[in-house]
Amino acid sequence: MTVLPFEAARHLVEEHARTVRLPDRERIDLLSAAGRVLAEEIHSDRDLPPFPRATRDGFAVRAEDVAQVPARLKVVAEIAAGQDVAGISIAAGEAAEIMTGAPVPDGANAVVMVEHTGPTDGHPPPYGYGRRSPSTGHTVEIQRSIQPGENVVPRGSEARQGQTLLQPGIRLTPAAIAIAASVGLSNLSVFRQPRVAILATGDELVDVSVHPAPHQIRNSNTYSLAAQAARAGAISAPLPIAPDEETALKHLIEQGLGSDLLLLSGGVSMGKYDLVEKVLSELGAEFLFTGVHIQPGKPAVFGRVAHQGQTKHFFGLPGNPVSTMVTFELFARPMIEALSGAIPQPLRYAQAKLKKEVKTKTGLTRFLPAELTGEFGSLEVELVRWQGSGDIVATARANCFAVIPPDRERIDAGDTISVLIT
Ligand code: AMP
Ligand code: MG
Repeated sequence: MTVLPFEAARHLVEEHARTVRLPDRERIDLLSAAGRVLAEEIHSDRDLPPFPRATRDGFAVRAEDVAQVPARLKVVAEIAAGQDVAGISIAAGEAAEIMTGAPVPDGANAVVMVEHTGPTDGHPPPYGYGRRSPSTGHTVEIQRSIQPGENVVPRGSEARQGQTLLQPGIRLTPAAIAIAASVGLSNLSVFRQPRVAILATGDELVDVSVHPAPHQIRNSNTYSLAAQAARAGAISAPLPIAPDEETALKHLIEQGLGSDLLLLSGGVSMGKYDLVEKVLSELGAEFLFTGVHIQPGKPAVFGRVAHQGQTKHFFGLPGNPVSTMVTFELFARPMIEALSGAIPQPLRYAQAKLKKEVKTKTGLTRFLPAELTGEFGSLEVELVRWQGSGDIVATARANCFAVIPPDRERIDAGDTISVLIT
């Protein structure tokens, strides 16, 4: 029996996660790459922005020409986004009407917002929005002075050509997808998703399609684990429900070990028919921990076993649905991320003010379903009332887990605590 404090158990999983082999790669279309793990470095193929970019609609000027205002400048060009400005140059006393996103021409070093300019004079039509044909040859009144560089993003200031923009191992967020598109990549090399076998155990369980007898329970863990595994980036491979009987259980565990990771639910407590550890031992498993000082999820098991020449890790998660869910997030997720080729991510916590006092016994780190409310800077949290770790109805109302440290018997209303965001 190896029962560890929460942090020690988590560290042990993280250490093992560092030892897993990087997955194979595959190339996929950029449009289906969101959420996948990048397997290549991405470089900028040119300076970003590729030209000094105007960030306002207005007039490109030489800041020195508008040191004294009002100043009247000759409008020598009109520049829209997408326009080539080769050959356009702004000399002393000149300006170019310019639109957001357009290249600032040579000679100009700042853009005065259209709101800070006065009436044009000379050729109609006057400047304005929605006009179609370029107009030049008139003059414009500049009413405010400006610093050089204002309202202009210099060429290459976001990234230089050749610069590394994304590293392998990052999960492709919408921003990362935008970067890939900006540098001209319509497909990306990503890591193959790991396959995670899911094996629910228990004689009382029936599948969702079966009408349960009064003493039977529908198997929900296979489905919640599949949902969590998918969110963690894995492809789940659900197995049929395992009975609390050694031969059948062993057969199904062996099948599950064909995947990259095996998640079991149930059968890891101290009951007479909790056979998961026994069967895994018979298969030669090494147990890294067989319990964690947490609630819910105390009987959680982590280990590894040789299977067809490879070492496979497994988690035996307690069967109570909330325990299964919590222990997945605390322990199985980092292993799945490693098997996905992803750079390890720490657990995400926020700080919130406890709404109502909490009393517990010491000795366990508790992750209790809770509701986080309030605004930025004034988050509040309240435990949801539940019937214990089997209560998925209450848990579905929660949006975080309140973390109660093992040494606190009582936390007062108004005290700040950590909440785990999953
Ligand atoms: P066990 O961990 O096997 O002792 O199960 C603890 C509790 O969780 C029991 O009340 C089980 O009926 C319930 N349980 C176990 N597995 C599942 C499952 N796959 N789906 C829903 N409830 C389950
Ligand atoms: Mg059971």
